[in-house]
Amino acid sequence: MRIGVLRETAPGETRVALLPDAVKTLVSQGLEVGVEPGCGAGAGVGDQDFSTAGAQLWPDRSALLATADVIPVVNGMAPDDQEELSAHSVVAGFLRPLDEPEALQTAISRGATLFALELVPRITRAQSMDALSSMATVSGYKAVLLAAVTLPRMFPMLMTAAGTVPPARVLVLGAGVAGLQAIATARRLGAVVEAYDVRAAAGEQVKSLGAKFLEVDLGGIPTEDQGGYAQELTEEALDRGRDLITKAARTADVIITTAQVPGKRAPLLIRRAAVEAMRPGSVIVDLAAPSGGNCELTRPGHDTEHRGVRLLAPLNLPATVPVHASQLYSRNMGNFLQLLFKKGAKKGELNLDMNDPIIQSACIARGGEPVNPRVAAMLQARATVCDRGRAL
Ligand code: NAD
Repeated sequence: MRIGVLRETAPGETRVALLPDAVKTLVSQGLEVGVEPGCGAGAGVGDQDFSTAGAQLWPDRSALLATADVIPVVNGMAPDDQEELSAHSVVAGFLRPLDEPEALQTAISRGATLFALELVPRITRAQSMDALSSMATVSGYKAVLLAAVTLPRMFPMLMTAAGTVPPARVLVLGAGVAGLQAIATARRLGAVVEAYDVRAAAGEQVKSLGAKFLEVDLGGIPTEDQGGYAQELTEEALDRGRDLITKAARTADVIITTAQVPGKRAPLLIRRAAVEAMRPGSVIVDLAAPSGGNCELTRPGHDTEHRGVRLLAPLNLPATVPVHASQLYSRNMGNFLQLLFKKGAKKGELNLDMNDPIIQSACIARGGEPVNPRVAAMLQARATVCDRGRAL
């Protein structure tokens, strides 16, 4: 049984899916681990570190792809890499199945078994595999630092002989994992923080971090699903939130916005008018940029300026903190892989228990077919559109 660790090829990616610590554990369990030379360079880990952990270096990427039974990745694979897979390959990582299902089509048709870590359920047993939370933690932290270095003011209140410097005012939209980390980081830097979320449960967490929770009367409509995620709101409910945000933006120096609804475009929360109400020099960091952004003026992947307000819309903040992002991701991945090997299997052999809720939820394709109903429906819908296009 071979595990293949590849160099990530997405532009700007610096993380690696498994670090030597996790490799060592897998090797001690009788598994063979092959690594592509240079795969850890972005995270400060050399080939020698992998060798010392018991991995073998595989300079031939294609051969590693074709012979590895399990391939942990950070991002989905490029089509050329997917061509090398076979029906015995298992791939696990952030595969974005609900964002870009068609990007997985080659791997699916090669018969590979695909696991999307973003679909691991948020149940207690799966907490150690929750890579989404790990990366959101890194993003929330880094977003505040980016805002702090961009803002032409300081964050803490300072009382000096030359006068008093007031604290920066930070508004955080979306108090999930990234938002809560942003609140904690901004508070540590001395800012005064306010936050807004549609989930009432977020209120207590916001307050426990020393921030003020802004509440809106949404008329008692349900705002979260059974899994604890926010639901897509009506335009009317969204408007109530947008009105509150426009008002709060007037006094905010920084807005960190993180609101997302899984599998949907990010909700638009910050109108152009809210940006224009902010003081010149203010900063917005839109962490929802990968799913379209929370601000009307966001250009995902670009830093822009509107009437003196800086709008940052990074697409991959965890890659700017590669050491700790890889460390957390590798631990999550290592724990997920343990699940694939355990339960009565011979030492080092795969034993996919498709009745295990974690494995079942994360599995998106097997045996040449999508097995996740949402992914299957999305692929089917796109295939129908293509067929119609060809027929016209
Ligand atoms: P996410 O990234 O999907 O969304 C970020 C935040 O945006 C969420 O708090 C969401 O409520 C908020 N949001 C969505 N639409 C909004 C709108 N229109 N206006 C304002 N805010 C809006 O969420 P996440 O950080 O991945 O966490 C989602 C949920 O899962 C949270 O309840 C979180 O506490 C929970 N969670 C549980 C575990 C666990 O192990 N049990 C682990 C991680 C997260």
